[in-house]
Amino acid sequence: MSAQQPYGDNAAPADPRAVRFVVLMTVVFLAFLWSFVSYWAISSRQETVAHTEQVLRRLDSAVEEQTRRLFKMVEIFLGVAGQWIADNPQADPRRDPRFLRLIENFRERTGNAIEIQLAAEDGTLTALGSSVPPVVEALADKDFFRAAIGGDERHFHIGAPQATGPNGLWQIPVAHRLQPRSRDSAALVAAIRLSALLALYEEARMRPNGAIVLLRRDGILLARAPHDERLIGKSVAGGPLYREFLPRGERGFARIGRTAIDGMDRFVSYSVLGDLPLVMAVSAATDDVMESWRRQMLIIVLLASGVSVASLLAARRLARVLNELSARNAELQHLATTDLMTGVHNRHHFLSLLYHEFARGRRHWVPLSLMVLDLDFFKQINDGYGHAAGDEALRAFARAAKGCLREMDAVGRLGGEEFAILLPNTQVAHAEAVAERIRAAVARIAIETEQGTVRFTTSIGVTQTIAEDESVDAVLARADAALYNAKAAGRNRVMARLAGELHSRF
Ligand code: GH3
Ligand code: MG
Ligand code: MG
Repeated sequence: MSAQQPYGDNAAPADPRAVRFVVLMTVVFLAFLWSFVSYWAISSRQETVAHTEQVLRRLDSAVEEQTRRLFKMVEIFLGVAGQWIADNPQADPRRDPRFLRLIENFRERTGNAIEIQLAAEDGTLTALGSSVPPVVEALADKDFFRAAIGGDERHFHIGAPQATGPNGLWQIPVAHRLQPRSRDSAALVAAIRLSALLALYEEARMRPNGAIVLLRRDGILLARAPHDERLIGKSVAGGPLYREFLPRGERGFARIGRTAIDGMDRFVSYSVLGDLPLVMAVSAATDDVMESWRRQMLIIVLLASGVSVASLLAARRLARVLNELSARNAELQHLATTDLMTGVHNRHHFLSLLYHEFARGRRHWVPLSLMVLDLDFFKQINDGYGHAAGDEALRAFARAAKGCLREMDAVGRLGGEEFAILLPNTQVAHAEAVAERIRAAVARIAIETEQGTVRFTTSIGVTQTIAEDESVDAVLARADAALYNAKAAGRNRVMARLAGELHSRF
């Protein structure tokens, strides 16, 4: 390809619009994809938490109900037994068969899960009927017992669990103050077997790491499934449930980052057991609950990442293909419009530019000028110096002509050694001056060959559009006629023709 290329560069740069479009589409697609992933992550996480809350709250109210029923039953029975003692001041409850039968009956009905004994003011316990040795050791020192006989308004007091007896049986002690009371019978003490509650909680708790905890209102741990002896009696009053959540309300649902009992991250449904000084906390380990969500998230993020990488690669490839296409396009465009030997517009493209400019000039009432140029005695150059020298002369001619023109002017090769120049918005007088410069420039061209220096001249016909011009053909014909006149007048000259009259200013 010649060095002279008036329009378009062969190494066409990336088409910025095509690349911008690909980048934009990729960004939109990726934004959409990741928004969807984020939305999905957030909403499915919320759904998981909401579902967990529902399950835990339901579980909480179920175990709360059963726990309350058990403690209420003990409270009511101790009330009934206390009333019997009050109604029979003459009877000795330790020996009276009617009272012992009452106690025995209750013990049997609870499946031996609850033991009842009579406590003296100094904490000495007396077995009633078939009951075993003292259900609570060192009763006198226990807070719940001191509160029971120490004038606390309430009759019913719950103590911290104890492992008593030869088998180390865990029991929750409960004291019921007698009214009126004597030194020997100051209170009734019931001991609820922890295993009765644990069986219930163990069956109900969520697997694998869910827990159900029964606490005293002051934070003492009474029962927990899964069971761990070391935790029984421990206080969690300093933990987040008591410090942060219970003060806000008697029941609720919360996520506790580190529970006071086992330091685990848990979702917890908690409730105060109404009139009983007890708190129920039913929990699930956050890891258990979120595990399937995390697994799904991982898969979705991996998939989305794969799709993102694939779409970025595809976008890069597409941008390259588009660039290549636009480069090819520019190259084709150049080939289709250029005269390859001289680098000026080819005949077809030049004429289309001329038609276009002619129509535009008519619309806006502005003139355009047209030159037709023909090299003089060109045949002699070919004959005298060879065809290659002729070709070189044509290229030198094109360079010289372009050197005299403005950016907006166009040079075309009409064929052989005949050229044309279009000067938009130009009066013929100015075009004549330009033609004269071209003529002079061509006359200065000297091409060195082995046979000697080649010099040549050109004849130029000039015209401009006038109102009477019906078509481009009329303008071309006038310029041709002017050229013919220039040839006839001796060549190496500029002749202009405007509406029939011919003139030469040079
Ligand atoms: P005139 O002054 O009357 O124009 O004389 P002329 O010799 O220039 O005119 P003529 O039409 O007789 O000859 C034109 C010559 O131009 C004939 C042809 O061989 C030569 N020619 C046409 N195209 C090319 C080309 O691409 N390269 C070369 N080297 N010569 C060409
Ligand atoms: Mg010629
Ligand atoms: Mg010719």
